[in-house]
This record gives sequence, C-alpha cells and structure tokens, in this order.
Amino acid sequence: MSRRVLVTNDDGIRSPGLSALVEQLRRDFEVVVVAPEREQSAVGHSITLHKPLRMQPVRLEGMDVEAYETNGTPADCVVLGAVRAGSRPDLVVSGINAGANLGEELFYSGTVSAAVEAAIQGLPAFAVSVASRDDPLYEPAARLARRLAQAVLALGMPTGSLLNVNLPNLPEEELGALVITRLGRRSYSNQIEERRDPGGRPYFWFTGEPEEVDSGPGTGSGAVAEGRISVTPVHTDLSDYALIERLRDEEGGLAARLLEAEGDGR
Ligand code: MN
Repeated sequence: MSRRVLVTNDDGIRSPGLSALVEQLRRDFEVVVVAPEREQSAVGHSITLHKPLRMQPVRLEGMDVEAYETNGTPADCVVLGAVRAGSRPDLVVSGINAGANLGEELFYSGTVSAAVEAAIQGLPAFAVSVASRDDPLYEPAARLARRLAQAVLALGMPTGSLLNVNLPNLPEEELGALVITRLGRRSYSNQIEERRDPGGRPYFWFTGEPEEVDSGPGTGSGAVAEGRISVTPVHTDLSDYALIERLRDEEGGLAARLLEAEGDGR
C-alpha cells in the first residue's frame, strides 16, 4: 500500500518550491497538498481562531494530486490535513521554502512551524528550505526530500520530534555531504525603518538582516555556509534542562533567591 504524504508550505500553494517537492514525492507516495492560498512566510505557529477557516479543493497544474488551498496558516494546514483532508497522512513534508530557516529563524518560520504542528499531531515530519530567496534551486532539494521521506518512514521518528533541513543554493553536483547539526543561533538585528504615511502618521518596516550569533562547529548555519546539507533534529520540548538544574539547586537556585529577596524586602 502506498504511503500518504501531506505536503504544505508557507510560500503559498502556487509557489515553485511546493511544485518541485510534489513532483518528486508523487513518484513514490500518495501525495495530498493542503497549503495556504497566499504567502504566509514568517507567520510562525499562528493558527486561525478569529475568522472562518476555509479549505477548498484545487487543481495543481500538471500534477495529478489531491490538493486543497486554505485561507489559513501553515499550522492550520497541517491540522486540516491531518484531521479533515481524507485519511491521516504517514508523513508531513513542509517546503520547499525560498530562504534558509536556521537558528532563531525557527521561531518565525511558517515552514518549520508546519513541521512542528505535525510533531504535535504525532506525525513524523520534516521541513525543507533552500538558503536563497533569489533564484533558489529547488530540484536538488526536491530530490533529497524524496529520499529523505523514504528514510524517515523507515527510521521512524520519536513523538514530538521533527527534522529541519536546509540546503545551500547549489547545483546537485556541488552539494556537500549531509550532516546532522544543532540549531546554532542566527537572529536579526533590530533595525526598524520609520516612514510616514500620507496622513503624516509613522509606520515601521523591519529591515534587519540575519546575524550569525553562533555558526560554529556543528551548527546548521556553519554547515550551509560550507556548502553542506544541514539536518537539525528539533523537539517540541523547549525546556532548558541546564537551567532547570541550576534553578532547582537548593542553595543557589530560584527558591533560595526568592527567600533572600523576601528577607531583603522586610
Ligand atoms: Mn517562506
């Protein structure tokens, strides 16, 4: 029996990255697409609660797959795809995103949030991004995604885990090895441009560029900068285990500090 793969993204159902992905996956899998009708980049894990959520079947040009477009977010699409669109998928693949999703970008990324939602729904999942917003090469990423889908289904994934995959924007023959990475840190400088609307009121644009805070050994950013394919295992458990240990400490922990503060306040 053919296994069912739910495909979504945050660049919109008509984005070439999604087409390239579907084109490869449908060779091995029964593919169902549930994706936003328009771009939802950087919406993070938001879900739709304050307006009607619509989902309607669409024909994807040149592709004979079951597809639905929604007015929702990538996370909405996964919930709809897992619960409403036919039978439950065996795997969720999100992408292929135009632009890297590395470090703290995960917290903003609609692409990765879709995979996180899949993990919450108890489904194995991975997100795929190509590290270029301009002219991303989707074909190598799509071919990798197809092989990765087979591998992930064979390996199985622990509940709550997902893979965040980033490729440098290189032709297949120039791509380096696939490496398992840690998140590293890549955040945005807080550059805000202020302008005036015709009524003279100020409005703002975030114009910051990503800054590599930690792209050292073992990070996704480091791997992609070196031309390699980064696969970062991510878990929905965001607990800071090192800090838990520190704050639980009898002497120097949080309870002790609170007692001290109480003493000072008298
Ligand atoms: Mn995007």
